[in-house]
Amino acid sequence: MYQSNFCQLLALKRHTCEATREGDWFIHRCPECDYELWDNWQTGELKVFNAKAGIKHSGFYAPPEIEQGKEDSN
Ligand SMILES: [Zn+2]
Repeated sequence: MYQSNFCQLLALKRHTCEATREGDWFIHRCPECDYELWDNWQTGELKVFNAKAGIKHSGFYAPPEIEQGKEDSN
């Protein structure tokens, strides 16, 4: 199987970020390098620090309070 070669064909490394929340910001930090993505959920502003060519960063923040009570607003 060639599944694991897919990223190498694209010459991309993949890092998975860890997200935390600080005030209005969701902060995605990469534990493998110094990449950071700051996502302001109030204004939609995005800031990216130390982005690397050839490294694809993924990661998401799923606040548990959004999952609940979507339809349950009475
Ligand atoms: Zn990284």
